[in-house]
Amino acid sequence: MSEKKRIILEEMTWPEVREALDKGMRIVIIPAASIEQHGPHLTLITDALLGANAAYALALKLGNALVAPVIRPGLSSHHMSFPGTLTLRPETFAALIEDYITSYVRHGFKIIILMSAHGGNTQTILKLVPELRRKFKDTTIIATVEVPTIDELEHITKLAGLPMGACGGHADDRETSEMLHLAPRYARMSQAKQGFVGKLDEKTLNKFFEQGVTALSDTGVVGDPRNANAERGAWYIKQTIDRLERDVRDQLRKEGIEIESS
Ligand SMILES: [Zn+2]
Repeated sequence: MSEKKRIILEEMTWPEVREALDKGMRIVIIPAASIEQHGPHLTLITDALLGANAAYALALKLGNALVAPVIRPGLSSHHMSFPGTLTLRPETFAALIEDYITSYVRHGFKIIILMSAHGGNTQTILKLVPELRRKFKDTTIIATVEVPTIDELEHITKLAGLPMGACGGHADDRETSEMLHLAPRYARMSQAKQGFVGKLDEKTLNKFFEQGVTALSDTGVVGDPRNANAERGAWYIKQTIDRLERDVRDQLRKEGIEIESS
């Protein structure tokens, strides 16, 4: 961690945080992830680790942002049939986000970027934003989503030259490759199994969220992680970070905030 730029709040001292604020680093990125099953081969930390990495990379791109401690458990009721998964009540999750913002606003942060790093959190976060904006009138609050949509999953599967269904969005080729790149100790490739590789659409997605992941896959995998590799993991991460940077800059521009390219 020592070679990393000092922008991860929990790894900074208070004078370092004050100095960063004084230098104009008024953006804080709050990644909201999950601690949940990721098939028989990836560990429960997957979304928290990938979310932390994405938030750090996005902060570097923006140049004047710090990274909040990852909200590690999220909304994972659809994964609860697998042991080890944690899930929060939606009201607990909402309260956590609000308390993070209250703390950072008090210390002078002006722009809050909520980052959903887990599919189950996304809709709740997007719904919270207007309410949070009403509560924190002098603060710019936006949300961005690290998790790819169904269309983006199809797109990256094609670009990667993989069979359709390999990137199904959960413990799939993408997440597994990213973990092989970032933290291979958390990927047990001998246990990797093909999961649901059928067509993903709104209907299958609703089934996934309402009935739980076992309605699609009895191993908890949506996609095919068996051929994952670290090099492709780095490529997937780059795709995601570029998309996140574009999205955040677009949203801030609409708020009249232009951030210089770093
Ligand atoms: Zn995940």
